[in-house]
Amino acid sequence: MSVKPALSKNIDSLEDDLVELAGALVASQSVTGNERPAQEVVIDRLKLLDIKPDVWEPDADVLRGHKGFFETSSFVEYGYEGRPNVAAHIEGGNGRTLTVGGHIDVVDVTPAEWERDPWKLTKEGDTVYGRGVADMKGGIAAVLIALEAIQEVGVDLGGDLIFQSTIEEEDGGVGGTLSTLERGYVPDAAIIAEPFAVPNVCVASAGVMYFKIHVPGKSVHAAWGHEGVNAIGKAAKIYQSLEKLDNDRKSSIDYPPAYRQNPELEGNVTNLNIGTIESGDWPSTVPSEAVLEGRIGWPPGETRDEVRSQIECAVESVANDDEWLTEHPPTVEWFGWQASPHETPSDAEIVKVATEAGEAVTGKTASLVGGNAGLDERFFQRYYDVPAISVGPKGYNLHGADEHTTVTSLLETSETIAHSIIDYLGTE
Ligand SMILES: [Zn+2]
Repeated sequence: MSVKPALSKNIDSLEDDLVELAGALVASQSVTGNERPAQEVVIDRLKLLDIKPDVWEPDADVLRGHKGFFETSSFVEYGYEGRPNVAAHIEGGNGRTLTVGGHIDVVDVTPAEWERDPWKLTKEGDTVYGRGVADMKGGIAAVLIALEAIQEVGVDLGGDLIFQSTIEEEDGGVGGTLSTLERGYVPDAAIIAEPFAVPNVCVASAGVMYFKIHVPGKSVHAAWGHEGVNAIGKAAKIYQSLEKLDNDRKSSIDYPPAYRQNPELEGNVTNLNIGTIESGDWPSTVPSEAVLEGRIGWPPGETRDEVRSQIECAVESVANDDEWLTEHPPTVEWFGWQASPHETPSDAEIVKVATEAGEAVTGKTASLVGGNAGLDERFFQRYYDVPAISVGPKGYNLHGADEHTTVTSLLETSETIAHSIIDYLGTE
């Protein structure tokens, strides 16, 4: 029997194991900043497979000089102590090297919004629910099951395989994937099992930046309000200017891969959101400052500096038309996420390999799609010139209540990744 049918058969027989492993990962509640409990599950599984895990905590001082570095919000809040990455080097022949894996952290939950327990995998027919079951603990479990199947079938790979389970992707991935690459785990290509609905292959991610705008006012008692300057009123003008910028960008920026998977994204491939506003103490005082926090996301095509300067100009244009703000200019501060977009060339061999594997496994036609959020894959492509793609399960309500995927698509992910490993590395 040729090796691929044997692998598929083996993976099918591991269905219960796959669901159980995904369930153990969901139950470990690894919200960004607290990745360790889930990494313990990964380490135990690698040991069970006789694969030696490399476990380390990232060092921000070592990473700081890198072009892709920024201080992530979770680093600022928790530091990197007690937040290990896990990687493993599985030796094969003298051929190429392939990385497979993903991120182990998940975003937090609002339990009241969930109909099910977010921290317990709930299986209803083919559907499985739980925080991270789609994004992307299901994918990590599918990759680990693929490794197990390759081992059980007894395949000798023609090149080395790297497995990685990394921290803080949801916060920018600096301490995770960037740290892993800087530790020396640089492959010739990478497959990350993010939920892009196999057989689709994700070849791009969006740039993402966070910013804070400090808007000065002048504080007085409300009864003498005419002598003060209300910072909330000034902030409202800035909000409107940014809203206009967002609309202008939406109507002029296009990126088809972003809406191939989700047609609703057409005309919305870039987005600018003000997410928080803080100002004032109580109704009887004119507030002396307002602070707006926002996020901008954009597809490949523009640089970080170009996008930054558009935001700064939109703020400046309000100040130029306002006597108070001309004398007391608002300031823009960049914090947290500062990621550039990435795009893996669609003719890269790993794209072809994964597309063909996914189509053979699912019997469906693959699309090349692009994420509308930031992804760790950018570190491979942008800074190491390593083609990186995502192949993973279906995903519904990602980051929301009752996040779910299907067992079928998890099995298909596992098979597609196993077949891609065989095709990319070859066998001996
Ligand atoms: Zn993800």
